[in-house]
Amino acid sequence: MKVVVIGGGVSGLSTAYHLARGGAEVVLLERGVIGYGASTRAGGGFRVHFWAEENVKFAVESRKRLLRLGRELGWNPVIERGGYLWLLKREEDIRRFREADKMWRRNGVGGRFLSPEELRERFPYLQVEDVAEGFLGPQDGKFHHDFITYGYYASALRLGAKILEGTEALSIITDERKVIGVETSRGGLDADAVVVAAAEETNTLLKPLGITLPIEPVRKEAAVTEPVQHMIEPLIIDWESNAYFTQTPRGEIIGGIDYPVKHGKIGLGTTLGAVSSWAKALTRRIPILRDLRVLRTWSGYYTMSTDSSHIMGRDEEWPEGLYVACGYSGHGFMMAPLVGELLARNILHGEVHELMRPFLPSRFREGRLIPEALVIGGEAGL
Ligand SMILES: Cc1cc2nc3c(=O)[nH]c(=O)nc-3n(C[C@H](O)[C@H](O)[C@H](O)COP(=O)(O)OP(=O)(O)OC[C@H]3O[C@@H](n4cnc5c(N)ncnc54)[C@H](O)[C@@H]3O)c2cc1C
Repeated sequence: MKVVVIGGGVSGLSTAYHLARGGAEVVLLERGVIGYGASTRAGGGFRVHFWAEENVKFAVESRKRLLRLGRELGWNPVIERGGYLWLLKREEDIRRFREADKMWRRNGVGGRFLSPEELRERFPYLQVEDVAEGFLGPQDGKFHHDFITYGYYASALRLGAKILEGTEALSIITDERKVIGVETSRGGLDADAVVVAAAEETNTLLKPLGITLPIEPVRKEAAVTEPVQHMIEPLIIDWESNAYFTQTPRGEIIGGIDYPVKHGKIGLGTTLGAVSSWAKALTRRIPILRDLRVLRTWSGYYTMSTDSSHIMGRDEEWPEGLYVACGYSGHGFMMAPLVGELLARNILHGEVHELMRPFLPSRFREGRLIPEALVIGGEAGL
C-alpha cells in the first residue's frame, strides 16, 4: 500500500514510522525542514491529567509508549518524571480538581493535593502565600522534543520511508470516490492513502475537497533563561494566570503564559508583552530567579479544535483513503506516539481502536464533542 503523509512534525513522523513498520510504502512530505512546525517549538511536557476521560485514557496509553520510546527508537528522549504541579487559588478550581481526581483514580492516575505547608516543605523555592492548594500529578513529566522528533525521523528512514524535505503538498488528487495521489511542488505522487498531518495548514489542503475541520491556529510564545543550578523538578502551572515553567536538564528555566493574541496565522514573531508577563509570573512564584536573563524567545501555533481535543482518522463521508491527524490544541506531542500507532493500524487494517474512536472527525458532525479545558498555557483559568 502506498501512503503519502503530509507534514514532518511529530504526528506525521510517528504515523510514517508506524506505517513503515507495518510494511507500507511511505512517502512523507515536509515543505520546510523536519520539525519546523510546533514539534520543535514545544515545551516538552507530558501528562495524563485532563478533564475529559477520553483524553486521560488516550494519554495514559501514549505515556506508556513515550516511556519505552528510547529503547524502541534508539534515541534517548531524555525523560524526566518530576510530575506536573498545579497551584490553585480559587475554591472553584480546587473543587474541579477534586472532582476530576475521582475520575483520574478510576483510571489509575490519581494525584496528591498539597496544603501550602506541604508545598513549602517540598518546594522551598516556591512563593505560595496566596495559594490555597496544590495538585501534584506524579505520573506526568518532561521529555526532549527534538530527540523524539529526530528519533522517529531516523527510524522511519531506516524502515524504508522516503522523507522529502523542501517539498510542499499543493493538492490532494481524488477520482471523486477516493484519493489517488498528491500534487507537490516537485511533481505528482500516486497514493492509495493520504494522511494530512499539516497542523494549522490542514484545512488549506482539505478545503478544495469540500472539507473544513473546526480548527484554528493560536500563536503561543515561549521563553528560556540562562541556566542555573538544578532545583525545579515538576512542571509548575500557576493555574489562574496559566503561566507554566520548569527547568531543563541544562538548568535553563523554560515556559510560557496565556497572552491574548489575534487568532489565526499571524506570523511566528515574539513580543515583549508576552515574555515580560511570563517573567513577572515566574519571579512572583520563584523570587530567587529575579535577576536571571532571558536568553531566547520563540513562538509556535497551538492548532486548537473547537473542543480542544485532537482529531484523528477519517470521516466515512470523505473520499476513501483520506485521513487526518491534527487539532492537538497544545497537548499534541505527548499524544503523537499513540496517534501514529493507531492511525497506522486504521490505515493498514481498517481497525478503529476503541481509544481512537471518540477522536474521529465525524464527532463534530454527530455532536459528540470531547470538551477539554485543561489546556496548559491556553486561555487562563477554567
Ligand atoms: C509553545 C508551545 C508549547 C507546547 N508545549 C507542549 C508540551 O509541553 N507538550 C505537548 O505534548 N505538546 C506541546 N505543544 C503542542 C505540540 O507542539 C503540538 O501539538 C505538536 O507538535 C503537533 O505536531 P504536528 O506534527 O501535528 O504539527 P507540526 O509539528 O506543526 O508539524 C506540521 C508540519 O507540517 C508542515 N506542513 C504544513 N503544510 C504543509 C504542506 N502543504 N506540505 C508539506 N508540509 C507541510 C509544516 O512545515 C510542519 O513542519 C506545544 C506547542 C507550542 C507552540
